[in-house]
Amino acid sequence: MASRCWRWWGRSAWPWTPPLSVGSIPSFRHQFSTQETTPQICVVGSGPAGFYTAQHLLKQHPQAHVDIYEKQPVPFGLVRFGVAPDHPEVKTAHCGRCAFWGNVEVGRDVTVPELREAYHAVVLSYGAEDHRALEIPGEELPGVCSARAFVGWYNGLPENQELKPDLSCDTAVILGQGNVALDVARILLTPPEHLEKTDITKAALDVLRQSRVKTVWLVGRRGPLQVAFTIKELREMIQLPGTRPILDPVDFLGLQDRLKEVPRPRKRLTELLLRTAMEKPGPEEAARRASASRAWGLRFFRSPQQVLPSPDGQGAAGVRLAVTRLEGVGEATRAVPTGAMEDLPCGLVLSSIGYKSRPIDPSVPFDSKLGVIPNVEGRVTDVPGLYCSGWVKRGPTGVIATTMTDSFLTGQMLLQDLKAGLLPSGPRPGSAAIQALLSSRGVQPVSFSDWEKLDAEEVARGQGTGRPREKLVDPQEMLHLLGH
Ligand code: FAD
Ligand code: NAP
Repeated sequence: MASRCWRWWGRSAWPWTPPLSVGSIPSFRHQFSTQETTPQICVVGSGPAGFYTAQHLLKQHPQAHVDIYEKQPVPFGLVRFGVAPDHPEVKTAHCGRCAFWGNVEVGRDVTVPELREAYHAVVLSYGAEDHRALEIPGEELPGVCSARAFVGWYNGLPENQELKPDLSCDTAVILGQGNVALDVARILLTPPEHLEKTDITKAALDVLRQSRVKTVWLVGRRGPLQVAFTIKELREMIQLPGTRPILDPVDFLGLQDRLKEVPRPRKRLTELLLRTAMEKPGPEEAARRASASRAWGLRFFRSPQQVLPSPDGQGAAGVRLAVTRLEGVGEATRAVPTGAMEDLPCGLVLSSIGYKSRPIDPSVPFDSKLGVIPNVEGRVTDVPGLYCSGWVKRGPTGVIATTMTDSFLTGQMLLQDLKAGLLPSGPRPGSAAIQALLSSRGVQPVSFSDWEKLDAEEVARGQGTGRPREKLVDPQEMLHLLGH
């Protein structure tokens, strides 16, 4: 039996949502008659989108039952496998009338039509599990990997445990200037003793301890006014112990005058960049920078064209970049090549130009150009009773707060359709039918109480070393520990 109570990891970027309590549900829920059939709803994916969609449905409907299916044996999606280990914070949420079924991959172990048959409604919240490719020569060379795989590696995502990046080089280049790029740069440059108290995997910590990487370049095809990272993450980078920033003042000329045109968050971010690039640091900061053994730099107006092979062809020796200039204004500002080229030597290339969703099942429409399930406010186009939320709904951008808002909206649409009689009437078997199918296929789901045992095991393994937990990274070991 799946457990009814969730402990749920988050971080400061998360908005506080009060624990769900069945006794304090706002007025909207009273619009549903208590005589109605119990709506059986299924959510695919247990990241923020899945959990927040479930939370909304349970809070706003007094009888709804929600089952969450998750392919990993453990819940929480990118909160466990994406958010950087040096950014921890624990939040809790409690939830009733809800079950977690881990170790069930929808599209492989059970199909979406089978779920639709068993439930009144299905919500797809399965995130973005792929990365956007650079589509340049040399991308397949050893020494080149996606930031997505690198993040998965240090955060214990089972499929990335074989990555073992070679950090024996002096210089790493990260292509892209978003928050994922900054996360990766920070993990590469943070003194290992500062990571020892986080839940980064032991294997990653061991590799990082041996790292010889001294300089990390973050390369953007546009300019300082177009960086995709945010101020909090930039500030952390500027203050990172043992490192100094490398910014070319030439990139910032004339920027001060343009600040009045830009919205306030972008203005504050650009001011911080300007101060760091143009102002002479005070004596304390100057001394800190002078003693730094590692450096990170922002390289602007450079678009990647090729990863250059090492002489033996067995690794990366650098990245060939097209020098760009900007055309257009505001959001439409584009980088166009000037014709000039520049080679940036390095031994490690991490491409951080965005995540990408995959199609889940031939019966579900998918826009492969945009990498999303086509939908109107969460209702999947032309498939009644099918909904989506999170990154698979709107693309792979936005923090957890954004994902929460769009998940609540999807939940609202679903409940509107339920109230309007647009979902199938009559009882549906829900998990009973799916458990029978899974059992006939030899799939053993992991319940939330199973996860709590794994959680306790991770915490116990972390004890004594001063770490919050030692993550289990092998699904077979997890299933073995559960006696499956
Ligand atoms: P996900 O979190 O990816 O969840 C999708 C879930 O679906 C996963 O558990 C996956 O295993 C499961 N799944 C996939 N396919 C299937 C299938 N076929 N069957 C069953 N289950 C499936 N935001 C912040 O606010 N703060 C941060 O510090 C922060 N750090 C981030 C760091 C990184 C590296 C990244 C990439 C993002 C970060 N974000 C952060 C953004 C945040 O993680 C996203 O907004 C959020 O996770 C998106 O939620 P989601 O539920 O759509 O996707
Ligand atoms: P992102 O914010 O979309 O950044 C992608 C970067 O890649 C941009 O600099 C973009 O430049 C560049 N890029 C895209 N295509 C390119 C190409 N073909 N060639 C060169 N550069 C290219 O994506 P992300 O960094 O993966 O982050 C995803 C989301 O998660 C974001 O919303 C982010 O804020 C969030 N997140 C938050 C945190 C946090 O809160 N701490 C941490 C990590 C992630 P252009 O602008 O020129 O396209």
